[in-house]
Amino acid sequence: MAQKGREIVKMNVDDLLNLLNKALADEWLAYYQYWVGAKVVKGPMKDAVISELNIHATEELGHAELISTRIIQLGGTPVLSPDEWTKISNCGYDAPVDPYVEEVLKQNILGEQCAIKTYNNLLDITREGDPVTYNMILQILSDEVEHEEDLDSLKEDIELMLSRK
Ligand code: FE
Ligand code: FE
Ligand code: MG
Repeated sequence: MAQKGREIVKMNVDDLLNLLNKALADEWLAYYQYWVGAKVVKGPMKDAVISELNIHATEELGHAELISTRIIQLGGTPVLSPDEWTKISNCGYDAPVDPYVEEVLKQNILGEQCAIKTYNNLLDITREGDPVTYNMILQILSDEVEHEEDLDSLKEDIELMLSRK
């Protein structure tokens, strides 16, 4: 554990660790939702959608990596069991039971909107008390904003294409 690194945190570290583990659970669920979505998705512009879903899956995994590293720096333990993920998650898991492209995109857009709300809230919580975590959250939040926009523009392209037929 980073002794001095933990000392400089001017907020309750256990509360912070709790919030970081909830975000970590979100990231694993987001990772899997994208990953399995890319496997099952069907419909127009499938190839473009699959490649975007796969990129996002990789980026969500990167977020899980960042958050778990920070949890360990702060002397905490990253959530150890997948059983915990849906229990502690902020944004939950939306199984892509309808594999049609627009449905999968809609589900993932809602997921990104929840992630943006969650991280924006974490920014407020850490702004004064933990600039290191704040900086990490800002980086993740920027990715989630980009994710929402990427999915939204794919959805728009598909809608335009279908309406011109
Ligand atoms: Fe993420
Ligand atoms: Fe995302
Ligand atoms: Mg993207």
